[in-house]
Amino acid sequence: MTYSLAIHGGAGTILKSSMTPEKEASYHAGLAKALEAGETILKAGGSAMDAVVAAVCALEDDPQFNAGRGSVFTAEGKQEMDAAVMDGKDRSAGTVAGIFGPRNPVKAARAVMENTSHVTLIGPNALQVAKDAGLEFETSDYFFTQQRWDSLQETLEMRARGEQSTDPARRHGTVGAVALDEHGNLAAATSTGGMTAKAAGRVGDSPIIGAGTYADNDTCAVSGTGHGEVFIRWTAASDIAARMRYAGQSLEEAADVVVMKNLAENDGSGGVVAVDAKGNISMPFNCEGMYRGSVKKGEEPFTAIYR
Ligand code: ASP
Repeated sequence: MTYSLAIHGGAGTILKSSMTPEKEASYHAGLAKALEAGETILKAGGSAMDAVVAAVCALEDDPQFNAGRGSVFTAEGKQEMDAAVMDGKDRSAGTVAGIFGPRNPVKAARAVMENTSHVTLIGPNALQVAKDAGLEFETSDYFFTQQRWDSLQETLEMRARGEQSTDPARRHGTVGAVALDEHGNLAAATSTGGMTAKAAGRVGDSPIIGAGTYADNDTCAVSGTGHGEVFIRWTAASDIAARMRYAGQSLEEAADVVVMKNLAENDGSGGVVAVDAKGNISMPFNCEGMYRGSVKKGEEPFTAIYR
């Protein structure tokens, strides 16, 4: 039996022209750390679910990425986080949307999956479920980063001038992980602060099962990053699985059509990381870059930003 793990830290958030060697090295280090957190679990025979949650927690704790600490700000200057987990074994899933408080929103999503009879919770009760599960909470000082605050001001100023960002991917980012474990189970997890200057209460694709997150042992596990509204309308993640299930497409073919054609042709800038039941990994993206990494049993970990 083999295992595979793939992660992303968002797509298109930094243009190559504004990248420095130091920044680039720091992103690679963040990705490598998350891969290591997930692989340690898979190597020891642990579950895909534990591995994707561990990898996503590492990315949420790293302020370079837009999830948990370092989440972007809404138009009102608040942080509202979305997260999801899905277990391919039985398609159980848990998601939270628009929350603020838990240090690791992905763990709150897992608590919804494990401790309630529901899939998605929002509002005070989502936080209560996280509290009852004994999760760590943090205050705004912990989650705040100057860089995200400055991006919000820039975006609001552009809006006031009636300008649109030339790079639709500039304003977003997300983190996610997908894995196959040695027991043949697939799992996916995604976590995000959403899009800079989003409206209060806006929910993206990450916590929508079948849009930004999906896992099913018969086909694949998928975690997306990009223009959430388009991922939702094109049911991006579940369409990859459906193409495999009904049209007999390989993971690579299915992920490519969805990302490089369906999303790309419809203002859906972004990408996905996906793994199938054999451990094949696919990581297509249709914008300038996607922070990503992968590792398979017996292979060296790989991290990349641009093509
Ligand atoms: N998909 C996320 C959202 O729309 C943002 C991103 O991945 O860049 O909330």
